[in-house]
Amino acid sequence: MAGISAAKQLLVNGYRVTVLEARDRPGGRIWTTQRLGVPVDLGAAWIHGDSRNNPLMKLAREHSLRTRATDWDETWLYKKGQGVIENDSDYELIEEKAQQIINRIHDLQRTASDNESMGNAINLLLESTSGSSIIKDGVRWWLSSEIEAVMGVNYKDLSLKYWDEDEEFDGSDLLLEKGYGNLIEKMATGLDIRYQHIVDKIQYSEGGTKVSGGWGSMEADSVLITVPLGVLKESFIQFTPKLPRGKLDSIERLGMGLLNKIVMRFREPFWPSDAHRLGLLSSTTLERVEFFPIPPLADSTVLLALVYGDFARRIEDLPKQQIVQLLLSQLRDMFGETVPSDVLDIMITGWGNDEFAMGSYSHIPPGASLQDCEDLSKPVGASLFFAGEATNRLYPGTVHGAYLSGLRAARQIELAHS
Ligand SMILES: Cc1cc2nc3c(=O)[nH]c(=O)nc-3n(C[C@H](O)[C@H](O)[C@H](O)COP(=O)(O)OP(=O)(O)OC[C@H]3O[C@@H](n4cnc5c(N)ncnc54)[C@H](O)[C@@H]3O)c2cc1C
Repeated sequence: MAGISAAKQLLVNGYRVTVLEARDRPGGRIWTTQRLGVPVDLGAAWIHGDSRNNPLMKLAREHSLRTRATDWDETWLYKKGQGVIENDSDYELIEEKAQQIINRIHDLQRTASDNESMGNAINLLLESTSGSSIIKDGVRWWLSSEIEAVMGVNYKDLSLKYWDEDEEFDGSDLLLEKGYGNLIEKMATGLDIRYQHIVDKIQYSEGGTKVSGGWGSMEADSVLITVPLGVLKESFIQFTPKLPRGKLDSIERLGMGLLNKIVMRFREPFWPSDAHRLGLLSSTTLERVEFFPIPPLADSTVLLALVYGDFARRIEDLPKQQIVQLLLSQLRDMFGETVPSDVLDIMITGWGNDEFAMGSYSHIPPGASLQDCEDLSKPVGASLFFAGEATNRLYPGTVHGAYLSGLRAARQIELAHS
């Protein structure tokens, strides 16, 4: 998204732009599959915040894309042996107590040191939560969903001080009916994109740049780097001269979280037709899964499981059948024997081991701050520029953050050549 948004902007303003893309498709961490009979987003899925200020809303309108809001109130929680939690007052109490913990975390942030993780603070607060096991486990579930799932990491890997310093757009979270890939395809139209062009060397100087890989090489006045933070962390691309120390330090300090998706197709649905999200309460969040019917309609036969943090990393090393059984066992704890013994089809993402992503999106771990995103975004001279979600200080980790970072980089390039 960052590369495409910058390229489009520069093209419109009269620049000659070539996009070098390692994969055989556009979109990077936006990737929609049709294999299971319905469009399923294996990467980004939601437009976060349908307010007029969100630039993606303008794009969705421009391209006449149909959207569907996720109704988070239609989250159905289950407890093993007890079935669905039906009592509205339980849901209210869970949310109220979880919100109290978040408020408490905000108090602690004021005096926290830069190196403190959120792990200890939140575990102490969770331990002191009162109420029945449904309430306690519910609060744990709700918080993990609000913090760990959103950031793609476990509490221990998040900075207590800076974890939520980014901005958000107001409004509902929207899914694109034909998937995010549809938007990318429309945006990519008219651009000179060279697929399967892996870049592994960049030489730069005030006079220009040379970018090369197994496919050959190309020279340009400027080069914009939009590879994910995870790829920069691996030093997959060799820069000559080396990148400035400050930028390398920021790359090292910032964290790359992990969210993986497991999409299963069944013969028929066994979950409630009006649910948008389903979850199993448990006394730990070690193997926590959120399930989403795709699309959230009565005739859906596809269930998407979302896993994150250490569990998402572990999933990447497990055999497919073990993952299926693990998920079916959780579903059986929720829906009993109506759950079949196998799935008709399954797709499992592996963003952590994907050499062109090396993770799902960035976050602020202990020791880092949003200043690191800012430092990452700075050009090096007049020839080397940076964009991508991790370079957006205001909206890191998101598609809108990537989009806006591309526009910012395009402006920087124009300024350097004006
Ligand atoms: C599972 C998952 C769920 C997500 N959910 C959401 C969501 O619901 N909403 C949201 O807003 N965000 C979500 N995100 C985050 C969002 O997808 C990203 O923030 C955004 O798409 C990043 O865009 P980008 O342009 O910065 O990077 P990318 O999309 O990663 O683009 C970088 C490009 O560089 C290419 N590349 C890498 N290495 C090389 C190389 N050596 N040579 C040439 N090309 C290379 C890659 O193939 C890729 O196309 C999710 C991400 C994941 C993985």
